Amino acid sequence: MEQVELVERVRAYAPHASEDLLNRAYDFSVAAHGSQTRESGDPYYMHPVEVAGILTDMKLDADTIATALLHDTVEDTLATLEQIETQFGTDIARLVDGVTKLSLIEMPQTDENRQAENFRKLVLAMSNDIRVLLVKLADRLHNMRTLGFVKSEDKRRRVALETMEIYAPLAERIGMHHMKDELEDLSFSILRPEARESVLSRLEFLREQGSDLVPRITEQLQETLDPVAIRATVVGREKRPYSIWRKMEQDDVTFEQLSDIMAFRIMVEKTEDCYRVLGAVHARYPMVPGRFKDYISTPKRNNYRSLHTTVIGPEQNRVEIQIRTQEMHQIAEYGVAAHWQYKQHTENVDGNQYRWLRELLEILENASNPQEFLEHTKLEMFSDQVFCFTPKGELIAMPRGATPVDFAYAVHTDVGDTCVGARINGRLAPLRSQLRNGDQVEILRSAEPSPSPIWENFVITGKARSAVRRFVRKQQRSQYVELGRAIMKKSLRENNRRITNETMRRALKSLGRKTLEDLYISVGSGDIDKSTVINAIYPDPTVRERAGKILSRMRPRIGSARDRKETVPIRGLMPGVAVHMAGCCHPLPGERIIGIVTAGKGVTIHTIDCETLEQFNATPERWLDVSWDASADSDQFHVGRIETVLSNTPGSLSRLTTVIANNHANISNLKITDRSSDFYEFLIDIEVKDLSHLTGIIAALRAEPAINTVERVRG
Ligand code: MN
Repeated sequence: MEQVELVERVRAYAPHASEDLLNRAYDFSVAAHGSQTRESGDPYYMHPVEVAGILTDMKLDADTIATALLHDTVEDTLATLEQIETQFGTDIARLVDGVTKLSLIEMPQTDENRQAENFRKLVLAMSNDIRVLLVKLADRLHNMRTLGFVKSEDKRRRVALETMEIYAPLAERIGMHHMKDELEDLSFSILRPEARESVLSRLEFLREQGSDLVPRITEQLQETLDPVAIRATVVGREKRPYSIWRKMEQDDVTFEQLSDIMAFRIMVEKTEDCYRVLGAVHARYPMVPGRFKDYISTPKRNNYRSLHTTVIGPEQNRVEIQIRTQEMHQIAEYGVAAHWQYKQHTENVDGNQYRWLRELLEILENASNPQEFLEHTKLEMFSDQVFCFTPKGELIAMPRGATPVDFAYAVHTDVGDTCVGARINGRLAPLRSQLRNGDQVEILRSAEPSPSPIWENFVITGKARSAVRRFVRKQQRSQYVELGRAIMKKSLRENNRRITNETMRRALKSLGRKTLEDLYISVGSGDIDKSTVINAIYPDPTVRERAGKILSRMRPRIGSARDRKETVPIRGLMPGVAVHMAGCCHPLPGERIIGIVTAGKGVTIHTIDCETLEQFNATPERWLDVSWDASADSDQFHVGRIETVLSNTPGSLSRLTTVIANNHANISNLKITDRSSDFYEFLIDIEVKDLSHLTGIIAALRAEPAINTVERVRG
């Protein structure tokens, strides 16, 4: 098609369309494709021009025609989307981008029906503007018309199969029967050439048998309508080979009746004429029961309207007849596009270029069957969903905002539990990345399950969230068991006792725990103090006394006003004032400290560099200059907090507790903050004498091979 002809065709139905836009798009496409050729040997640029031509048959707007001309430039030439945006504006750039993205996805090669439906949904979700889909369908139609030139049989079959399973049903779904029929027949000729051949030769035979039947029946039907004096046109046609074949497959049709191969259509002007024509036909010929359908009072989901009937008609043959108006016919042939056209002709353009989209939604909403309604209101429905591929090509549907972790759990719980990383479209990506339509996601897995509790912060599917929770709870229990046992072992050893199951069981009843595991969890998680357990095991006061003496050395005595005189080793305090060590910075003897006075509560001790102090900059009267008393009781313990990362190897946790115990310090609290397949991260509170005690422990921990990092935590 020549440039001039294309522009003329658009101007014929859209007189105000920009000639300049169409010419510039045409020139851009020709220049960009340069000397590229198709497999047919034709210059490449003829393909986009033909695609544009197909869309002029549907009377689409100039932006769509320009998009058709440009649709392969970004993918196949040096032209960029930025150039298109600069030269043709954001709307056309967005449409071209949409078509380009659709071209990049390929249907997974699986036989599953569900996959085909998901893939159709993916295509719909990606063409958030229906014009993107219309250009894609026209592109596919032209590619199918020229598929014979493609040399690779594999590729021909793949494209034909994809057309049959994805694009033809999509064309039908938006009401474009004409396009659906052609796509199906072209695919049929590639996929089942022998079947198509058999249909064609049978048709040939039947045609010879009943020569001139189509015109004779047409004429007799026309005469039937004379008495009702309605202006009507009767058209007879042979059915398409593929629709005959499918009927034979589905309905056990023997392919003997002429009604199986030909169909007649009566076109009238007004809707009420349809029923008058129907009456006239039924008055003359007996109808075949069960074949009458009134799609005018109950339109199909894609707004198809028509009366269907089958009669024992002229020449004693079963004859299928469709009765419809011109407008119904246009909508049947061109679907969405025709609907849009009719509305545009009857209403003033209000400048809202997306009005047709709303109308499409109305069409879909008017669908009678709720199941079909859900299936077809994709434009709203699928904007909440995202469709991604596994490396094998399986499509996974998830809610929008889903991450690789959601994807992993959607594939299988085991895949989620062992997920440690992800590649999106071949590139390593963070696990919290949001997936996009068409992404191919590969989950990297470890040998052992290792979900992280922080995943809970970003996964959005219920399946992923509950699986992570369940796993973390289980892990926490085993951590607490290990820790609780380590704590009790140490306490008993200090009491010159060995830990045995028999010893420990003695505490179960009085502490109300059923199993040793429960008891260790209670100790590990801090629900039960170790001295309580010792008391439960050794109700004998003398033993308890010994244990109590040791335990009391390990517990901080700061915090109570009663004890302050003997135990608080701080200078500069007024007598009788309560003292607390700040939980934010955990001050230790040896550090510069500051007291903050709170009326009625006493003094809180912070380190001089604690960030919390900034809050008191405006109230200098509350600051108290204090210092540690170096001559005070050296048995005093203080809490220092460290953060440590351990290798996930057997025994690493017990190495940690051993090092701390060997340094004469005590763990008062321990919390797992993160865990992966390789590492655990803990926050640990340690009771120490002073700063140098803590730094000594940190140094000793850093010397341990199983311990990766150790840092003091401030704030
Ligand atoms: Mn193309």
